[in-house]
Amino acid sequence: MAIETLSSQQSAAWKDRVLPPVEKVAEGVWALPVPIPNNPLVYTYCYAIADGTGVVLIDPGWDGKDQYLALTSALADLGFKVADIHGLAITHYHRDHIGLAPALLAKNPDAWIAMHGEDLRAIKRFYTNAVDLGTGVDPNLNIARVYGVPEDRWAEVESLQVGSSKGGSKNDSMDLYKQAMSQLPENIHVLDDGSELPLEDGRVTAMWTPGHTYGHSVFVRDEDKLFFSGDHVLPTITPNIGLDSGAITHSLGDYLRSLEKIGQLDEDVAVLPAHGFRFTGLHDRKVELVEHHHERLGEIRARMEATDDHSVYSIAAGLHWSRGFESLHNFNLFAALAETAAHMHYLGIDIGVGSLVGKD
Ligand SMILES: [Zn+2]
Repeated sequence: MAIETLSSQQSAAWKDRVLPPVEKVAEGVWALPVPIPNNPLVYTYCYAIADGTGVVLIDPGWDGKDQYLALTSALADLGFKVADIHGLAITHYHRDHIGLAPALLAKNPDAWIAMHGEDLRAIKRFYTNAVDLGTGVDPNLNIARVYGVPEDRWAEVESLQVGSSKGGSKNDSMDLYKQAMSQLPENIHVLDDGSELPLEDGRVTAMWTPGHTYGHSVFVRDEDKLFFSGDHVLPTITPNIGLDSGAITHSLGDYLRSLEKIGQLDEDVAVLPAHGFRFTGLHDRKVELVEHHHERLGEIRARMEATDDHSVYSIAAGLHWSRGFESLHNFNLFAALAETAAHMHYLGIDIGVGSLVGKD
């Protein structure tokens, strides 16, 4: 079944990188775009699911005044007040997904939050500063050295370390996670594979899909074949694999297994991703994503044979990047190196990172 958009409005907005309109996507389910500031992804879809007398949100989106207003006024148009939010289901802990959770929970302390235990642990690790928020490893270790980054570029990777003033919005993220930990409600549902969301009405189950983050979860509503895919499966882009703290080394193996797992779902499910547009053709998209990573592995094997320098940096420099390796700086450079490291680890190549990865 070929990949086909289910919304011409959403795919047009994605193509133009503008905010799409709020749309009803199924009976009692709406897609509410929440803007992400200064980011090529432009928005995250928050999905609102009618739940008896109120509503449940999957991924409330990035935090901020404008975002809060965008989300709450879209909900108001649908007839829901903040007090009507019964709960928040989180696909993974990244800021463009969980960001608004603390603000919503502060206004509505009776609401529950549901997320996988591994992503809760990741937030705690950031909160306690046991690992670096930018690199996901022990902040005392020099990831740039381990990856073989030439000395004249160390500052770019080190700028991501905690305490650096060059880290951009990173310190805001630290505040966010602190806030998130201090405002977690009593009513917290730690998800595992197969857990059901505590809905008043209807049945939505979680599936554990580690890869993009170790605790990444997707949600499935069987009755009308809805698949809330988070960042696990996106229509046109591939999620970053290799940045998650605690799981950098095995993230690609996890991700490929998680792709196999969603092959159990019906071929004609409606895929409701966090970015892009909703579509059908899950199995074809799955095959494309698997192929993408196998091509990457093939490229890495070829590069390994072509050069004697088997450092992560040297291998990454020889791979194809959409805007060229030279154009990668700071965070993007580190993301490319982490992704290369995850692929090298998958091939059984010792990258010297195993001992660096943050532990609880
Ligand atoms: Zn995302």
